[in-house]
Order: sequence, then structure tokens, then C-alpha cells
Amino acid sequence: MPTADAYRTIGIIGGGTAGYLTALAIRRYQPELRVTLIESPEIPIIGVGEATTPFIVKFLHSYLGKDINDFFRRVAPTWKLGIRFEWGKPGGYYFNYAFHPGGLLEGVLYQSDVNLYSLGSVLMTRDAFPIVREGNQVTSLLDRVPFAYHLDNERFVRYLREEAVAGGVNRIEQTIREVRLTADGEAIAAVVTDDAEERSFDLFVDASGFRSALLGDALRSPFRSFAPSLFTDTAVVASVPHGGHIKPYTVAETMDAGWCWNIPIVEDDHRGYVFSSSFMSVEQAEAEMRRKNPGMGDVTRIVKFRSGRHEHFWKGNCVAIGNAYGFVEPLESTGIHMIIHEINQLILNFPRSKKDTAIKGVLNKKLNEHWDSIRWFLALHYRFNKRLSTEFWQACNNDADIEGALDRIDLFRERAPLTYRQSLFHKPEEIFSDFGYDILLLGQKVRSRFVEAAEPRRAWEERQAATREVASRALSQEEALAVLRRAPAEVLQRVVTGPETWATWP
Ligand code: FAD
Repeated sequence: MPTADAYRTIGIIGGGTAGYLTALAIRRYQPELRVTLIESPEIPIIGVGEATTPFIVKFLHSYLGKDINDFFRRVAPTWKLGIRFEWGKPGGYYFNYAFHPGGLLEGVLYQSDVNLYSLGSVLMTRDAFPIVREGNQVTSLLDRVPFAYHLDNERFVRYLREEAVAGGVNRIEQTIREVRLTADGEAIAAVVTDDAEERSFDLFVDASGFRSALLGDALRSPFRSFAPSLFTDTAVVASVPHGGHIKPYTVAETMDAGWCWNIPIVEDDHRGYVFSSSFMSVEQAEAEMRRKNPGMGDVTRIVKFRSGRHEHFWKGNCVAIGNAYGFVEPLESTGIHMIIHEINQLILNFPRSKKDTAIKGVLNKKLNEHWDSIRWFLALHYRFNKRLSTEFWQACNNDADIEGALDRIDLFRERAPLTYRQSLFHKPEEIFSDFGYDILLLGQKVRSRFVEAAEPRRAWEERQAATREVASRALSQEEALAVLRRAPAEVLQRVVTGPETWATWP
């Protein structure tokens, strides 16, 4: 039973990924709350945010219960098995950060290859996908090998909007001109929209993107910058033809003053050069991108950003989700992942009464720590990448602040991999575990001593042969997508409902 002072109305400010995912989750898990979403017809959504983590598959189809076949029809995502880092050493070297984990050491010890640890990683190396030929038939291993989505941002947000409105969210198209605070300045009394309406809610969700109109601008939650660790602040975004070949992974390619993502969508590759404006101008960045991407379209977009987080996730009667609370460059596709994590924490800990306030402080602390852990993990990518020695990379190698990662790095250097040792850092909810550290440190050839192998050479080689055999029969992503369009609905459905699938919400 709701208490007399329970939250009854929620006003979400912002109609990007953060706003709509929050609206959908609240409608499903707090159906007694009246949800209004206000989005400006003048202020566009950020429009980038397309590479994800496997969290989104679980969240959409298991947590929110959205039909996976319908999603494929309306959003046309492509699959992502991980990130290929063209990073660490000069030349054609790369390493895979696959979502499919496995023992990292044996490949390094027995074959000096860091990319042999799982079927997911071997498939990435072959540009192949976990749907395999069996004689004249094909078999789907999609419920066995974790994947994420690459999304066309516009199609995805349109889908979320339609689902939210169909699910009972009251959507208002208005720009907020003024935010009125309570007398003590600690909470929001009302927002005033362009039509001069004053709108009040029990709880406000700030999903207004980088503007952080409620939490940052109005409630003045201080911003904690990650700039000492992460030097980039600008992205040039463009499309490049892929000629029909859809890579089953995101690429992060080292560039002169930063790095470039490659996110394959059905129609073309979406590329974005994330760089530091202290080391390069927009014109220089665009010229470098064109040089390295023949056929790049004429239309480019410039996106400015800042890395960091506010001091509060929840202040007064305002919770901030998405870029309004925290942001780091998309080197590990953390944007939507953190939106989902923030929403889940909000729903899990939703106070029964407006008088329950201790939970706000605890959530602030936990989520701040989580954002900070991402900062330290990304900083590793900069500190140890020795692919290029431009002015930018020399500065990163010398000065990128990795303070919060030092304990783990010291342990790694003493005896690696961390995943073969008793973990001292395990936090189940954290996005980057010891496995992530191992991949990044082994992948970038950070020197260490090793523990003993967990598997004798013979047994490991036999397993490798079996993995190679399966991978040799795997389809390319474009073949797999064509097969799936003709396949019965159960094939995709099994990813969400199969008895041993990885894709259910914990
Ligand atoms: P936005 O999309 O900016 O939405 C803000 C909303 O607030 C809009 O609807 C706007 O109209 C509304 N609004 C603002 N002010 C007002 C007002 N005054 N009145 C009314 N409405 C208002 N994330 C990933 O997960 N993967 C990626 O690959 C990825 N790549 C990125 C690349 C770059 C260069 C950048 C900058 C970000 C990237 N992100 C990525 C992060 C991504 O942007 C976010 O995850 C996601 O798009 C969430 O955005 P949002 O909803 O917080 O804000």
C-alpha cells in the first residue's frame, strides 16, 4: 500500500535515450506513478550513442519485456561482439575486448596471442558471427555468446518514444524556460514551460543531457571534471560506406590526437573522431579522418563534450539520469550502460515515502564511485597506448592521471592475470572488472610476471582446435542478418527465454 506521503507524480525533463528509458522502466515497475515527459521541440537530442554493452539486451527484452523480434523489425540493430582496439603497439596490431570472457593467460603463454580466449573473441578476429552452418542448415549460438547492439540513434529513440506513449506516458512538447526552486533552494518547486504553464511533480528526473538544466543549472550540484585523466573534448562525426560488409564489433582506432570509433549500422559505418582541441583543430581532425576513410560523406557534425560527473545523482527532489549526471567519451560504450544502471538503482531503491532521505546519500556515493571507476579504467587506455608517439600521445603517456587504478595495476605487474587470482576488487555491479583490466593491460603489453597456467598446453590446444572448427563455419554478420529475417520468431526469442541464456536480467 502506498504511504500517505508516497511519490505519486514524476516529471521527466528530456526526450533522449535517458528520458525515455527511465519513463518505460517507471511505468513497468512503479505503475501507480503518473509519468509526464517534457521534451523541447527546439533542442535536439544529442543524436550519437549507438554502441552498447550486453546490458541493453537484458534490459530491453528481459527487464522491460520488449519483444525482441518486434525490436529487430522497427530498430534494425546490428550485433556487437565486443570492441576491437587498434591500440597498444604500432603497425597492424590489435586486441579484442570481447563480451565473451575466457582464460586469457594460456593464449599468451602458448601462442603469444591475446585474442584466443573465447569463441566470441575468435569470431571477432574472423569478422564472423555466432550463427554457424551445419550441413544445409544453420544453428544459432546467440544464446551462448553474449552480444550487444549497434543502434541507429534516430530509429532507437523513435522506437522508445512510441513505446512510452503507448505505455501511458504523458508526453508534452515544450521547452522549459525557468526552473523555480523551493524557498531553501534545495529542491525544485516547479518548471515553467514556453506556454507559461507552471508544472509541479513530486519527483523530477533531469534527463536534459549536457545542459543538466535541473541538477546542474538550477540546483547547482558541483561538476567534478575528469579532464586530468581524459584529455579529449570534441568529436567529428561522419558516415563512411561499408560496401555491404557489417563488422560484428565496434572499432576503436588510435588517431593522432585521440581515437576514432567505427560503429557499423545496416546502411553504413558511423565514424567519430574523438580528440583534444588543445592538440588539434576541428579542420585538422576532419582532414585526418578523411585521409584514413576514403569515401567519407561530405556531411560532418561536431560535438563538444566534457567528461565528468556531478556531485549528486539525487539532490532534493531531483534525480539526474544520463548525460545530465555524468559522461565520459564512448571509448568503452558506457553511456547507455550507465543510464540503465542508474535507472535500475532508482527503481530498486525507490523510496516508499518522500520522508525517506538516507537512500539518496547512499545512492549518490555508490553511483559516484561507479562513475569514478570508469574514469580510472578509461585513463589506462591513454596511459599505456604506445601505438603513436604524437604530441598528444606523449602527453597522455606521461600525464594521464591513473591514480584510482594504481592498486590494480601494481597487482597486475606483480602477477598477472588478475582473473587467475583471488579477486580483491570484486564488485558485482561494476562494469569493468578484473577481466577488463586484464584485457587492457595484456592487450597494451604492460609488463608483468605471470601466474601458472590454469590449463595444460595439450588440453588448451584441443579446445582451441574445437573453437577454430566452430568459427570456420560461422556466418558473416550480413549473412546472419539475412538468415534471421527468414527464420521463425523462436530463433531470436530463444536469446531471451532459452534455459541457459546469458540474456536474462539478474
Ligand atoms: P540527450 O540525447 O541530449 O537528450 C536531452 C533531451 O533533453 C532532449 O530531448 C532535449 O530536447 C531535452 N531538453 C534539454 N533542455 C531542455 C529544456 N530546457 N526543456 C525541455 N527539454 C529540454 N553512449 C553510448 O552508450 N554509446 C556510444 O557509442 C556513445 N557515443 C557517444 C558519442 C559522443 C560524441 C557523445 C557526446 C556521446 C555518446 N554517447 C554514447 C552518450 C550518449 O549521448 C548518451 O548515452 C545518450 O544519448 C543519452 O543522452 P541523454 O538522453 O542524456 O541526452
